[in-house]
Amino acid sequence: GKKDFLYRDQLVSLAHREQVALYVDLDEVAEEDPELVDAVCENAKRYVRLFADAVHELLPQHKEREVVHKDVLDVYIEHRLMLEQRGRDTGETHSPQNQYPPELLRRFELYFKAPSGSKARVIRDVKADCIGKLVTVRGIVTRVTEVKPMMVVATYSCDQCGAETYQPIQSPTFMPLFMCPSQECQTNRSGGRLYLQSRGSKFIKFQELKMQEHSDQVPVGHLPRSISVAVHGENTRLAQPGDHVSITGVFLPLLRAGFRQMAQGLISETYLEAHRIVKMNKSEEDELGSGELTEDELRQITGDTPPTLPPPIAPHPLPPALLGPGEPPQLHSPVAPPASPLDVLSAGQPRSPPPTRPVPCGTFCQPPGCAEGGAADRGGTGPARG
Ligand SMILES: [Zn+2]
Repeated sequence: GKKDFLYRDQLVSLAHREQVALYVDLDEVAEEDPELVDAVCENAKRYVRLFADAVHELLPQHKEREVVHKDVLDVYIEHRLMLEQRGRDTGETHSPQNQYPPELLRRFELYFKAPSGSKARVIRDVKADCIGKLVTVRGIVTRVTEVKPMMVVATYSCDQCGAETYQPIQSPTFMPLFMCPSQECQTNRSGGRLYLQSRGSKFIKFQELKMQEHSDQVPVGHLPRSISVAVHGENTRLAQPGDHVSITGVFLPLLRAGFRQMAQGLISETYLEAHRIVKMNKSEEDELGSGELTEDELRQITGDTPPTLPPPIAPHPLPPALLGPGEPPQLHSPVAPPASPLDVLSAGQPRSPPPTRPVPCGTFCQPPGCAEGGAADRGGTGPARG
């Protein structure tokens, strides 16, 4: 239909192994079938498989020329498909375990682009009700692991019958197979052992990143929360620490295998399986209405310097009583010096200038600054001397 037309060029590229990632725009799907988009957003992981199956079936129609083999797995897959074709001609049948899993033969990746109507969430709003759903989250990337190969399909061969066994892996850990499940070994009880073949197994690029809430998403008095994001294939190496990103992905519980799952009990860690990572530039943020620069952004612009210290406390002018009369009191200068923060903090208000009337003369007033006292003194002592 229309989707076929929209994606024809991309399907041709996928069929010739010139493109790996196919991003299905759910807005375009909604034009044909809005209910399907709702279903996809509710149960995204399942629909990735359904869409990928559909694309996989369409690919042979879009193959216009012979594909130049890119890597070992391409050659391997072609050999296996040829063998299967021969086996089909002679009437052999494969047992379910020896059939090629679609994950092995599929060399493309399928991702969803969230419908534009869906609102981006804050990390603290991604809760249990989002499990399995397609959500879009905004934040800052704080940590990025290096990209490593992750096994998606483990391929084993048997040392007795030579049959190949495939084990699709969906969790971060897996239990390797040991005994050959093929019909031949089962009936003969020959106890064939399986050996893992890394050459025939399928690996995919894998990277994990941590995303933290933006400072303006954190309520006052709270700590910023973070979420871990699993990134596969073509989505790897798109974000660096410090990037402001919007990540669309499927919110999933982290499945552990064996004893760790038992020890973990009913509580489960969660993560976001990334479908689409968009780095947000300034203009996009402005559109969102956050016009003012936050502290983090300012720091980035000024080049990672720590926030500037408050200005050094200005030397406070001495009270005029301690100064000579010839010197004009500094506090009466037309531009009053700014009250230092320390003053405000300690006194509650800027210090007011003390009264400038002359200090009454008495026995205490001996310094030469006090004219009256000095004169009185001199006057007093003069006659006594003379
Ligand atoms: Zn066997």
